[in-house]
Amino acid sequence: MSSREVKRIVILTGAGISAESGIPTFRDKGGIWERYRLEEVATPEAFRKNPDLVHEFYNLRQRELLKVFPNAAHHALAELERKYPGGMLIVTQNVDDLHERAGSKNVIHMHGELLKVRCEKCGHIFRTEGEIFTSTVCPACNQKGGLRPHIVWFGEIPFHLEEIYRVLEICDLFVAIGTSGTVYPAAGFVEIARQAGAWCVELNLKPSAVADLFHEQHYGPATRVVPAFVQELLQSQKRKL
Ligand code: NAD
Repeated sequence: MSSREVKRIVILTGAGISAESGIPTFRDKGGIWERYRLEEVATPEAFRKNPDLVHEFYNLRQRELLKVFPNAAHHALAELERKYPGGMLIVTQNVDDLHERAGSKNVIHMHGELLKVRCEKCGHIFRTEGEIFTSTVCPACNQKGGLRPHIVWFGEIPFHLEEIYRVLEICDLFVAIGTSGTVYPAAGFVEIARQAGAWCVELNLKPSAVADLFHEQHYGPATRVVPAFVQELLQSQKRKL
C-alpha cells in the first residue's frame, strides 16, 4: 500500500466476495449463467414475455440467499467502516444483502436488491422475504400484475450512478473486490478513480479484465485477501496517528 494519506475510500464489490458464502458467481465455472439463459430471466423483454418464469428464477435466488451467511471478507469491510477515521462507501454490484448483514451501513446497491420488489404501476419499493407471483397484490396501490424484482436487468441503467461518480471523483483509495471487470459501467470505475488521483487496488482470485489499470493487486480467495488488506490498512492508519 502507498504511504499517502487516505481520507476517502470507495470499495467496489462483485460476485466474487459472496462466492465463499455459497452464492454462485455469474461467469465462473458452475456459475448462474451455466444453468439459466440470461435472455430468458434477466432482461425487461424476458419479463414481458414470461413474467412467471422470471419470478420463479428470482424467488429461487431469494430462497438460496436466505440460507447463506456473510463471510470473513464481508465482516472485514464492516470492521473497516467501523474503525476507519475517514469516509468509506461500498458500491456493490451484488444483489445479496451480505454486506448489510455483516454490519456495513454505507452501501449502494447499483444493480438492485434481491430482497426488494418494485411496483411498476405506482413506483412503490418494498422489502420482502416472501415469494412474488404475477398474482401478488401491491401493498401500496392494491393492484395486481405490476410487481417486479428491484433488480437492474441487462439493458437497464444502474441505480445511483450520479452519486457513485461524485464519490469516485473525490476518493483517495479505490478497491475493487471479486469483480471480473467485464460489466460496464462498473468496470470503468477504476479509470475514473485513477484519473481523480486515487490509489487503485484489485483484490480477486485471479486478474480481472482490467487488472492492468490498478496500481496494486492481491490475488487469492476473498476470505483471505480482504481481511489481510483491511488489517494492513488499519495498521498503516494507526502508524500515522
Ligand atoms: P462475475 O461473475 O463476472 O465475476 C466474478 C469475479 O469474482 C471473477 O473476477 C472471479 O475471479 C472472482 N472470484 C470468484 N471467486 C472468488 C473468491 N472466492 N474470492 C475472490 N474473487 C473471486 O461477477 P461480477 O464482476 O460481479 O459481475 C457483475 C454482475 O454479476 C453484476 O451484474 C452482479 O449483479 C452480478 N452478480 C451478483 C451476485 C450477488 O448478488 N452475490 C452473484 C452473481 C452475480
